[in-house]
Parts: sequence; C-alpha cells; structure tokens
Amino acid sequence: MSNTATVEHAGRRALVVGASRGIGLGLVQVLLARGWQVTATVRDSARTPQALAELQTQYDAALEIVELDLASPARPAELAASLGVQALNLLVISAGIMGPDHQRAEQASQEETGELFDLNAMAPLRLARALLPAMASHGVIGFVSSRMGSVSLNDSGDRELYRASKAALNSLSCGFAINEAIPAGVGVLNLHPGWVKTDMGGEEAPVTVEQSATGLVTVLEAALGQAEQRFVDFEGQTLAW
Ligand code: NDP
Repeated sequence: MSNTATVEHAGRRALVVGASRGIGLGLVQVLLARGWQVTATVRDSARTPQALAELQTQYDAALEIVELDLASPARPAELAASLGVQALNLLVISAGIMGPDHQRAEQASQEETGELFDLNAMAPLRLARALLPAMASHGVIGFVSSRMGSVSLNDSGDRELYRASKAALNSLSCGFAINEAIPAGVGVLNLHPGWVKTDMGGEEAPVTVEQSATGLVTVLEAALGQAEQRFVDFEGQTLAW
C-alpha cells in the first residue's frame, strides 16, 4: 500500500455493510490501510469477530463498528439514521447470501425466494436510497453484485435463483442510479468481486479476499468524482449486463 494513497484518502469516510467476514471484512482492512475513516456493520456487535476487533485495536478511532441486519424490518430511514453516518464518500454493500441449493428455481419455497430476493436485491436498494442524503457529492455507492447476475454472460445456467437475485439487484440499482444517485452527483458501481475464497466462494476459489478487496477498493477510489454507473469487476474490467 503506497503512502501516496494513504495521504490522498485520509479523512475520507466509508461505510461497509456486511463486514463480519469475507469480502466485506477485506474491504474494511484495505480501506483502513489506505487512510479511510470506516464504519463497518455487523449483524450482532456482541459477537464481533476477532479480526474486526483486532482492526479496532490497530486503527482505533478510524474504525467504528455498528450493528445492522440488512434484513431488518425496520423502516429504511430509521435504519439509515441508526447508523449515524454523514458526508460519506463511499458506501459499499457487500452483505449477501447464496440462497437455497436447488437445481431449479421452482423447487424453492416462496419463503426461500422471498428471503433471497429481499436480502440480495431489495435490501441493498432500500438502504442505498435511504442513505443517499448522507452521501457526499462526488461520492460512490458500490453494490457487491456478481458476474452471475449478468444475463448476457450466463453460459452455464446453474444457480438460477442466485443469478436472478443479482440480476434483480443490477436492474434495481440501474433505476436508482438514473433517477436519483447520478442526478445527486453520486456514482454507482455494480461490482463483481471475482470468485473469492470465502465461506460463500469456497476453498477452491482462485482469488483471495486480499486480492479481491484491494482490486475493488482501487476501482471504487478511481470512480470517486465520476457520477456514472458501471458494472465492473475487481480488476477494473467492464462487464456486460
Ligand atoms: P460470506 O458468506 O463470506 O459473507 C457474507 C457476509 O454477509 C457476512 O458478513 C454476513 O454476516 C453478511 N450478511 C448475510 N446476511 C446478512 C444480513 N441479513 N444482514 C447483514 N449482513 C448479512 O460472503 P462473501 O464475502 O463471499 O460475499 C460478499 C458478497 O459478494 C455477497 O453479496 C456475494 O453474493 C458476493 N459475491 C461473492 C463471490 C465469491 O466468490 N465469494 C462471487 C461473486 C459475488 P454474518 O457473519 O452475520 O452472517
């Protein structure tokens, strides 16, 4: 990590949603190392994971840990207010689930599809919309999506429901970008983190959390000040929707 990057981003504020483990935790690590002020959300602060507690000790006031269940029935505005964040340069929503392991979409119950689509598509949109007034002008909102959410790049047909939930996220965030975020001077990135070694990605995944998070933060930092929407991977390559 270069000193230039640290100085450049000193004082900038980021909120990372879903930071207890995996890619979200990696993002927090990279942002702190680059001099950002970070608010990290976990579902249950009484069970703050060791890695995040160690970052808190290392970075002290630069890291704040707050509770947020993205699936919470609380009204989005109340949820946003409870986070107590203002003048955010970066909001990254990483929390997500793989959903039921059915071969075909119709094998899932309505409850399962409801939970999956609500958490992966609706909840990020609700939160981003509620937090738009807390974004600094020229800030960026990153939705952690997936290449699997691209309809045109779907060449295997597996994981029908998960793919559809990320395609729904992509579609919803397009509307949000066009109607609200970009007119407010805020950029929107739909991010593919790579196939990453996490609880979700599994041990055989070729990309480490550090590689993915470093790439994603580089892409997000480069997008600051550009009020546009892109679907982009952790190496900066634009993806087809
Ligand atoms: P993990 O399963 O490792 O971590 C998931 C994270 O989401 C955890 O921090 C978890 O919190 C949080 N989370 C789940 N449900 C909720 C909720 N209701 N409210 C708040 N937080 C919640 O996943 P990854 O880090 O691998 O994935 C992160 C994102 O990247 C996801 O959106 C995923 O779809 C996407 N992605 C991942 C890929 C990969 O290869 N890993 C590939 C493409 C996309 P808790 O610890 O409390 O459960």
